[in-house]
Amino acid sequence: MSVLKPAARDAVSDDPVDAQGPWDLVVVGGGTAGIVGAKTAARLGGHVLLVERHRTGGDCLWTGCVPSKALLAAAAAAASARDAARLGVTVRGVDVDFPAVMGHVRGAIAHIAPVDSAEALEAEGVTVLPGEAVFTGPDAVRVDGREIRFGQAMLAAGASPAVPPIPGLKEAAYLTSDTIWTLQDLPQRLVVLGGGSIGCELGQAFARLGADVTVVEGAARIMPREDADAAALVADSLCADGVRVLAGHGVSAVVPGTGTAGDLELEDGTSVPYGCLVVAVGRSPRTHGLGLAAAGVDLDARGFVTVDEHLRTSNRRIWAAGDLTGHPQFTHVAGVHGSLAASNAILGLSRKVQLTAIPRVTFTHPEVAAVGLPTGPASPGLRVVEWRHAHVDRAVAEGDSSGFARLAVDHKGRILGATVVGPRAGESIGELTMAVKLGLRTRDLAGVIHPYPTFNDGPWNAAIADVRTQLESPRARAGLRALVRLRRWRTDGST
Ligand SMILES: Cc1cc2nc3c(=O)[nH]c(=O)nc-3n(C[C@H](O)[C@H](O)[C@H](O)COP(=O)(O)OP(=O)(O)OC[C@H]3O[C@@H](n4cnc5c(N)ncnc54)[C@H](O)[C@@H]3O)c2cc1C
Repeated sequence: MSVLKPAARDAVSDDPVDAQGPWDLVVVGGGTAGIVGAKTAARLGGHVLLVERHRTGGDCLWTGCVPSKALLAAAAAAASARDAARLGVTVRGVDVDFPAVMGHVRGAIAHIAPVDSAEALEAEGVTVLPGEAVFTGPDAVRVDGREIRFGQAMLAAGASPAVPPIPGLKEAAYLTSDTIWTLQDLPQRLVVLGGGSIGCELGQAFARLGADVTVVEGAARIMPREDADAAALVADSLCADGVRVLAGHGVSAVVPGTGTAGDLELEDGTSVPYGCLVVAVGRSPRTHGLGLAAAGVDLDARGFVTVDEHLRTSNRRIWAAGDLTGHPQFTHVAGVHGSLAASNAILGLSRKVQLTAIPRVTFTHPEVAAVGLPTGPASPGLRVVEWRHAHVDRAVAEGDSSGFARLAVDHKGRILGATVVGPRAGESIGELTMAVKLGLRTRDLAGVIHPYPTFNDGPWNAAIADVRTQLESPRARAGLRALVRLRRWRTDGST
């Protein structure tokens, strides 16, 4: 194994990192963006050093996608058992062994971790240096006392849970998505601050596992970025799971509680006591302490690294990828960013990042998946076509038919956006993402044979319904009538 060990601060001259240079690409951060970027650059023939200060794999593996989806799977099992009676199956006594659930979560992480390990990177030709990277100039970075020069560099330091400036919050013992995975016992009075996708996923998971959960959201509704009707279905589902959803409630202070860990004081004068507080109000870029001013890398007003369409920063040698760019914060985006920035950096290409067809999924029950332009009623110049899951046979058969598929379509019939809400919506959105990316029309989607019975019947039938509607226009009807008359005349001479 050739992972480089951190050097003593005074050992610069015969440093093995220097000896192995010069480096074509130094990658700062070993999360998804950094790993994909480093592997891509090495496969293209670059000499690549990746610096990681904690553990390779990043947030997705250790504190994000993987543990949250593993937790949601356990929660779904508990909910299905409780809910099975609606399908005629009675399950008596559902016990949740929380330490065993967390064992399952750790097991999922352990199963995937080798793929993202330093060893796997080394096997692909990437040299991994543990340590904290700080830029010292436009072409140099310092890692634990070593000065390393680079031809090109990639910033992939990710983002951390944001902590809002609420009086008393800093002093309170709160958890975030970084720390919640250390819980040993199921929290009995859990308050989640933030009703976005992370807050809703965590809130629903813990409620289904048996916790008393309240989600507090400052905006008028939870999941404010999503189609309002989709968010309403999630809110209903959270309530059915026993979650108290307090939307439209700003928090004015966090104060010590009497008999509880603390109280959230809301702007309307009421308070919400908690035993365990989870802050999930967004994610801030990890740019502090990176020496970006010395490197000549500009930040935008929100502190994200400014990049052009090629993912190049204001320093022509330095590229950025993943959560710290201010582009949508998803693992699939970080991976695509890493690959694109690395090939631009190593080969001098001008590949452009595309932001129009980025799918997103909230893995609550029901799942909400969306891509492209909004599907709400307010989309100007677009029509929204819908197919309700009440008419999707698979949904009916599974007794879970409250969802829908919606397509935002322009005057030419091109699919510019989509929302699917319901079971497995995240699986349906891939096809719709391709439709949006390739500028496909509803008639293209309608013409693709879909297997029956699946939840993909939702978007498919929405597309078919749109084609039918188009065929009902006066022009289309006149054309059809003419064709029928022509057919009659050719068949028997009548018109
Ligand atoms: C609870 C939760 C659930 C999520 N679920 C999903 C999901 O279902 N689907 C999805 O697509 N996305 C999900 N995400 C988002 C996803 O995790 C991130 O978009 C993704 O991890 C970003 O990858 P990244 O490489 O940009 O950053 P990160 O994964 O954060 O990696 C950055 C790395 O840089 C290292 N680093 C930072 N500073 C330095 C330095 N100075 N020197 C050396 N190393 C440094 C860090 O230690 C870290 O390992 C979720 C996030 C959370 C929090």
